[in-house]
Amino acid sequence: MKDYIIVGAGLAGSCLAYRLEKSGKSFVLYDDGSQEASKVAGGFMNPVILKRFTLAWKADEQLEKAYSFYGDMEDHLGKKFLGPLEVYRRFSSAEEQNNWFAAADKPRLAPYLDTKLVSGVNKHIPGKYSFGKVLGTSRIDPRYLLDSYSAHLQEKKCLKNDTFEYYEMHILDAGVEYKGIRAKKVIFCEGFGLLNNPFFNYLPLRGNKGEYIIIKAPGLDLEVGVKSSIFIFPAGGDHYAVGATYSNTDKTPGPTKAAREELVEKLRDLITVDFEVIDQVAGLRPSTIDRRPLVGRHPEHLNLYTCNGFGSRGILLAPTISEQLLDFIEKDTPLDPETDISRFTKKWYNKN
Ligand SMILES: Cc1cc2nc3c(=O)[nH]c(=O)nc-3n(C[C@H](O)[C@H](O)[C@H](O)COP(=O)(O)OP(=O)(O)OC[C@H]3O[C@@H](n4cnc5c(N)ncnc54)[C@H](O)[C@@H]3O)c2cc1C
Repeated sequence: MKDYIIVGAGLAGSCLAYRLEKSGKSFVLYDDGSQEASKVAGGFMNPVILKRFTLAWKADEQLEKAYSFYGDMEDHLGKKFLGPLEVYRRFSSAEEQNNWFAAADKPRLAPYLDTKLVSGVNKHIPGKYSFGKVLGTSRIDPRYLLDSYSAHLQEKKCLKNDTFEYYEMHILDAGVEYKGIRAKKVIFCEGFGLLNNPFFNYLPLRGNKGEYIIIKAPGLDLEVGVKSSIFIFPAGGDHYAVGATYSNTDKTPGPTKAAREELVEKLRDLITVDFEVIDQVAGLRPSTIDRRPLVGRHPEHLNLYTCNGFGSRGILLAPTISEQLLDFIEKDTPLDPETDISRFTKKWYNKN
């Protein structure tokens, strides 16, 4: 009898698995590579929404936990996937500059927004207005983190590279049985794939597609991240990642020509050197109608749980939310009512 089955080895499922491993619980983790959001994520450890200069939901509280969680994981795996990355916001108007100063006056934002503006960060990124530095930023390489952790679980024989077939799961009085494996509890973490889950697909997951292009720009020589209408950051050597797009209508998994053209056009407005697009990646952000995670216990099947709805903020949310869900299951600590799926009953969803 295992303690847990986890379905999905994105940020949600992997952070849960790591917490279970640290607390000595047994588990099997299933992943079939059908969703890519976590692997293609930019990976920024930054609590500020740089479009509007506001704080993402409870992000300052999540930041500290994320640093200690990922740092601990690095030590455990003997891999380095977290590193500093300076990030600058390029202003496109005097009004934006004023908004930056107004935001920097607010006590919860002040630690993250430098009020000493700079006139330039790179000679190939001209700006009519100045640039504001975001303080204390770092970046996780999410693909490296997830691949490293999967390899570790593979060695421990806890990972199955298979699709979890919901109709093969039998619900027992004290847990579940799935293809010969018995487990006390199942936590579903399929990201946008939740829509295929017959137990939880009543939840209002919307999905928002995001794409990045990877460019080669030998003349650029940029060592920092720059955010304007798009974000550009170094991706090793003379390669840079540029993105991301946001689409609420396209729910297809792969890269699109429309996104590439949009990003190339915006990039031409941002940098003045030649570049070549060498790759493109896409993923579906598991966004929700109220922009809050979807966490908790199934209303009827009490050994089934979900951990989902991280939208565009999985990097900071995953360490905090995974802890809250396991405290709820193991210690009966109430969930944050803003994330608890009990806010959406089946009845509620049928009506809406
Ligand atoms: C282009 C882009 C850029 C982003 N940038 C950032 C960023 O900079 N910072 C940030 O915080 N967030 C960012 N995000 C958002 C972030 O990626 C998500 O919030 C997060 O990855 C969601 O993680 P998840 O584990 O819930 O879902 P996913 O990453 O989608 O993982 C779900 C996993 O479940 C597996 N799965 C699904 N169904 C099954 C099944 N039946 N059987 C077995 N396995 C299954 C899938 O293969 C997948 O591995 C970005 C997203 C995109 C698309």
